[in-house]
Amino acid sequence: MAAPPPVGTRMLPAGTYDGLGVLVTGGGTGLGKAIAVEFARLGAAVAVASRSAQHREAGVAAISDAGGQGVGVEVDVREPESIAAGFDAAESELGVNIAVLVNNAAANFPVPATDLSPNGWRAVERIVLDGTFFCSQELHRRVTARGGEGAIVNIATTAALTGGPGMAHSAAAKAGVVALTKTLAVEWAVDGIRVNAIAPGLFPHDDLPAAIQAARDPSVDDARQPVGRVGQPHELGWAATWLASSYASFVTGHVLVVDGGNWLRRDFAMPPVTPIREQLPRSR
Ligand code: NAP
Repeated sequence: MAAPPPVGTRMLPAGTYDGLGVLVTGGGTGLGKAIAVEFARLGAAVAVASRSAQHREAGVAAISDAGGQGVGVEVDVREPESIAAGFDAAESELGVNIAVLVNNAAANFPVPATDLSPNGWRAVERIVLDGTFFCSQELHRRVTARGGEGAIVNIATTAALTGGPGMAHSAAAKAGVVALTKTLAVEWAVDGIRVNAIAPGLFPHDDLPAAIQAARDPSVDDARQPVGRVGQPHELGWAATWLASSYASFVTGHVLVVDGGNWLRRDFAMPPVTPIREQLPRSR
């Protein structure tokens, strides 16, 4: 499959997000950073919300390099007070209301379910599921208080749709995010807020945690995808900017799979099953 248009190509008209604030959780690394940059390229004032100052600086620098306006705000998505303070800081420093929220922050590490500790389980559920819900509530409070409109884009994963051996914590939390997407889409449609999700497939990038990098084999990643290549982070940025824009104003409660067809892959003659412990040799 052909490579997509290069980074820097706008998919929507210039100025699509002029005057609008967008808050991206985990917007300082990997896919969140790529998403934040695409919103900024279209005129949005973008808040990069996360815990690490170093990550936030990297996100803001990438936005500046693309000619956009960005600010870093310290947020721990597990804590509602921290989220409210982060939204306050974002709106005051950017000088606009936050109208779009991208729930991208996550944590993940491959592990057989039998080896998953209560702390490991809770850590992922709290960041992914609690964090998505608390941030969404905060956006809803603000949008309804001022009588405007808003959009939420939740970053899920294809494992939310299929389950994922070695990913019990993440797949379960993200499946919750998918259910939340559909639930809030209906509850909040009357309040002028659309809620959609993106389920990415494999999008390698330099910020991937070491445990995820270690479980990959870059030499065969492309060949494992039906379209013959992995995703490029800016492709997710395009998907997110479209879903949150008025061009998608009749779209809500949708889960957009962006994975080159990989989640539907099922060989005619399936290969022998490899137990998860043999797939993750480091955890034996
Ligand atoms: P990543 O680089 O590891 O990014 C995770 C981000 O979440 C970091 O920027 C981190 O920032 C932030 N974060 C973690 N805990 C947080 C907390 N408590 N409060 C606020 N921010 C927090 O991951 P990625 O690969 O870009 O993934 C981005 C999204 O895509 C995730 O939702 C992931 O599940 C999904 N996804 C990725 C892939 C892929 O192939 N990369 C595939 C499927 C789905 P701080 O450390 O600064 O807090």
